Amino acid sequence: MGYNAFQIFWQGLTGNKGWKPVWREPEPKSEYDVIIIGGGGHGLATAYYLAKEFGVTNVAVVEKGWIGSGNIGRNTTIIRSNYLLPGNQPFYELSLKLWEDLEQDFNYNAMVSQRSILNLIHSDPQRDAFARRANAMRLSGADSDLLGPEEIRELCPFLDYDNARFPIRGALRQKRGGTVRHDAVAWGYARGADSRGVDILQNCEVTGIDVEDGVVRGVQTSRGPIRATKVAMCAAGNAGRVAALAGMRLPIESHVLQAFVSEGLKPTLPGVITFGAGHFYVSQSDKGGLVFGGDIDGYNTYAQRGNLPVVEDVCEGGMAIMPMIGRARLLRMWGGVMDMSMDGSPFIDRTHIDGLFVNAGWCYGGFKATPASGYCYAHLLARGAPQETAQYFRLDRFRRGAMIDEKGQGAQPNLH
Ligand SMILES: Cc1cc2nc3c(=O)[nH]c(=O)nc-3n(C[C@H](O)[C@H](O)[C@H](O)COP(=O)(O)OP(=O)(O)OC[C@H]3O[C@@H](n4cnc5c(N)ncnc54)[C@H](O)[C@@H]3O)c2cc1C
Repeated sequence: MGYNAFQIFWQGLTGNKGWKPVWREPEPKSEYDVIIIGGGGHGLATAYYLAKEFGVTNVAVVEKGWIGSGNIGRNTTIIRSNYLLPGNQPFYELSLKLWEDLEQDFNYNAMVSQRSILNLIHSDPQRDAFARRANAMRLSGADSDLLGPEEIRELCPFLDYDNARFPIRGALRQKRGGTVRHDAVAWGYARGADSRGVDILQNCEVTGIDVEDGVVRGVQTSRGPIRATKVAMCAAGNAGRVAALAGMRLPIESHVLQAFVSEGLKPTLPGVITFGAGHFYVSQSDKGGLVFGGDIDGYNTYAQRGNLPVVEDVCEGGMAIMPMIGRARLLRMWGGVMDMSMDGSPFIDRTHIDGLFVNAGWCYGGFKATPASGYCYAHLLARGAPQETAQYFRLDRFRRGAMIDEKGQGAQPNLH
């Protein structure tokens, strides 16, 4: 059903009883053209763009839990395109452009809010690095500007400007960065895909990938076998486990990342603020809660929960740069499993098995990539060739020495 002002008015008059389920609950068919493993943001976006942009509608999204139960419903909702490297920047800028039109495109309110993102600067070398990044952003059409401490003080009077270890000397700002309501993104893409004929199969775990003579034939699931000519892995934190079903080992480690929400406060934060030096970032939700996080937990795990040392570390970071956060009560916290790649950048690629594709390695930055990831993965699945902005996200880049290491950390997944 369409959403418009008349519907809201009419449903309001008739007790809101006429709203229909947003997607169907179909039984699995015996065969599809494309099976997407994982009903997270990327899997649903891929199905949506496959159907809408490439006319491929005989598609199933196979999800072991429910739509939104993975990282798409667990992230801190930040979108931005403030990347440095040519392998990354145009891709994330494409994503930001898709976010800007998304709500009109799928006729769903995802609360896209371009309230800006500030990356704090504490030293001259850091300013140089951010100036370089700001220029790289502009070269690919993104917006960026550098602020001095007085300009930031006007926007954020509550920060500790004279912090003994990390005095605030400036910030890189991207005004078009901001936040998006994460689960509405999953629902919007699910609705858009379903209405074009895609089957979304919830509570359906893929337990095997059928390969014969180097060619994929389909999958085994908890609801029976399903045949397909193309199988697209899109399981984020579980990417390694799913790829292992086809005998593959990905250059990925899984780590947990935690998020925190405070009680609701009056509007205080102008946008997203990141304090990279102290491993802390924060934004304010439309309900008023401060949404914040920091570093990953640092050990390998598939558990969707973290541990207390990181809670302490994140809260210390918050107190250091924004002491007033100590007055707010913490309401909720949770964790999600990150697919941390060896250079901190993702993969959208075919595999050595004919018909089997991989989308993974999003680390803790895959939410902002959701539209472009879905679009580029759909392009690869439908056309057989990578979309231009995703052409560097290849599985063999380590063998070729063509890493996309934004932070320059080397093969240290826990540090990216
Ligand atoms: C706390 C936290 C904060 C974050 N903050 C940000 C942020 O502010 N900005 C940003 O850009 N990114 C952020 N991220 C990262 C971002 O959420 C992820 O990179 C992105 O959501 C991953 O893609 P996805 O949405 O497809 O993943 P998911 O939603 O995890 O989708 C993968 C799906 O695959 C399913 N699956 C797994 N195995 C199987 C199987 N065998 N069979 C069937 N289904 C299977 C899972 O159940 C899951 O639903 C954050 C992540 C976390 C946890």
